Amino acid sequence: MVKSPGGDEQVSSREERVARNESTTRAINEEIKGAQQATSPGEHVRILCECRSVDCDRVIAITLAEYESVPADPRQFAVVRDHVLRDLEQVVAQTDRYTVVAKREGVAAAIAVEEDPRG
Ligand SMILES: [Zn+2]
Repeated sequence: MVKSPGGDEQVSSREERVARNESTTRAINEEIKGAQQATSPGEHVRILCECRSVDCDRVIAITLAEYESVPADPRQFAVVRDHVLRDLEQVVAQTDRYTVVAKREGVAAAIAVEEDPRG
């Protein structure tokens, strides 16, 4: 990482965000969920949209119970409604707060399975 005297906080935080998106939003969300484990199952927690767009910083309000059911299949992701990639993903569930999509078979699905932090 390049550090300049001018202070590159903007740049480094963006780099970090990109890297995070690339590594996996789900891992972050697992941490968020872990940190909020004490919350009652019916209460909303805020997780990051899992669309993996580099520019996406949207959050989704979801209950722990709902979130637990999403990655039952590692190809499934919770995203905001506007972020569904209809040519790559199939909508499997929709609420007024978020949409659950499944990666279509192929490379994206294979990567999703491979990167599943739950192993
Ligand atoms: Zn998104």
